[in-house]
Amino acid sequence: MLRLHPFRYHRPETVEDAVALLAGFGDDAMPMAGGTDLMPNMKHRLFTPGHLVSLNRIAAMRGVALSPTGSHLRIGALETLADVSASPLVRRHFPGLADAAGLVAGPQLRNMGTIGGNVCLDTRCTYYNQTEFWRGALGHCLKKDGTVCHVTRVGAKCVAAHSADTPPNLIALGAGLTLAGPGGDRTIPAADFFITDGIWNTRRARDEILTEIRIPVGGPGRRSAYRKLRQRHSIDFPLLSVAAVGDFDENGAVERINGVVSALGARPRVLAGWDEIAVGERLGRRVIGALADRAYAQCRPLENIIVDAEWRRAMVRVCVKRALSELAGKSGRQGNTEAKS
Ligand SMILES: Cc1cc2nc3c(=O)[nH]c(=O)nc-3n(C[C@H](O)[C@H](O)[C@H](O)COP(=O)(O)OP(=O)(O)OC[C@H]3O[C@@H](n4cnc5c(N)ncnc54)[C@H](O)[C@@H]3O)c2cc1C
Ligand code: SF4
Repeated sequence: MLRLHPFRYHRPETVEDAVALLAGFGDDAMPMAGGTDLMPNMKHRLFTPGHLVSLNRIAAMRGVALSPTGSHLRIGALETLADVSASPLVRRHFPGLADAAGLVAGPQLRNMGTIGGNVCLDTRCTYYNQTEFWRGALGHCLKKDGTVCHVTRVGAKCVAAHSADTPPNLIALGAGLTLAGPGGDRTIPAADFFITDGIWNTRRARDEILTEIRIPVGGPGRRSAYRKLRQRHSIDFPLLSVAAVGDFDENGAVERINGVVSALGARPRVLAGWDEIAVGERLGRRVIGALADRAYAQCRPLENIIVDAEWRRAMVRVCVKRALSELAGKSGRQGNTEAKS
């Protein structure tokens, strides 16, 4: 049985108190929301904080509501994935995000896991998400306690996979993330939040808390879709994920289109060149094929998670086509995961 190490558990009721605890204990403290990822990681001794700062009593970090003008939707970082997925506001305005939240893990984990924890999720790797004994037998690795990367074998960079389902959608939707820290609040576009360092892959300082997410609602022609590739249709992390968001005019022509893929490297990748191909065009077979080809050319999965990288790359075209067909209203909604057979 894997046991937790001894630690002190704090339960502040305000963001200010939580930030003060994190700042006071420095690197020896971590925030915890649902604990669905942090607890297993602590049992694997990937993190051994002396102080855990639970965010669960902070009422100000809950709620889903439109701004008074209706231009933005605010989602509190403590909203559970189950609640985000079921929220009528999220479903109406951002169906791709609602689907993504509803595809994380399984029902129990979605009832505990929060959208804030999902955004701040640690990266994953075959050589990292293992017990201390397993990792020690291999001499550890750059991300934790070692000096080499078993994936690249050369280089001083960790390329563990960004594996959270909601961030690609938040990036494609142009969301802003609000962080509270000892110096006050700051907002970062979701597109700038992630960096290519798999060891700590966000711009969040260790004593900052993600308090809320603000998403622009967009016009009546906005549509969004999400596809997730995974080993089984339940519980598994993504092997590849694709979020697509498009604005369409009254004739069905594309005004703007964004695509984001993830689970390939340490941060989600914004697909370049989609507007050049699609703006002014209807999202038909030819345009969808060209967008899928452009995506394929930009994606090179690494051997950082257990499933064959070449097959994951081949599936980029497939998943992008399916996401775009859904955006174009062609595929119906027959489920949005592909399982590995
Ligand atoms: C079996 C299994 C399957 C899973 N499958 C998936 C999957 O398919 N897709 C997926 O995306 N995830 C998956 N997860 C991971 C996890 O359940 C979800 O990502 C969940 O959303 C994490 O939220 P949480 O509130 O439990 O985060 P926690 O575990 O509490 O925290 C996760 C990390 O974020 C930090 N953190 C949490 N909240 C905040 C905050 N508000 N501000 C700053 N830092 C914060 C914590 O310090 C920690 O580092 C899976 C987990 C398990 C155990
Ligand atoms: S990518 Fe390399 S350094 Fe990062 S967790 Fe995997 S083996 Fe370790």
